[in-house]
Amino acid sequence: MSLFQKKEPITVEVKGKELVCPICSNNYFWTRSAQLNTSAATFFGLDWANRSATCFVCSECTHIHWFLG
Ligand SMILES: [Zn+2]
Repeated sequence: MSLFQKKEPITVEVKGKELVCPICSNNYFWTRSAQLNTSAATFFGLDWANRSATCFVCSECTHIHWFLG
């Protein structure tokens, strides 16, 4: 996918635990940060979360894990 930068995927730790994809059990992810603009935040009912988010994209199945803040 051209959406993703051509970088080596990394392992990610959240709250002291290694992040593992629930879909394919892969533990390598591409990381991206995204600015949640007002329209997107409103669409998702997340007006309170109108700020930047971090997402980790599974390098195998491209399932996206979102983390706010
Ligand atoms: Zn996956």
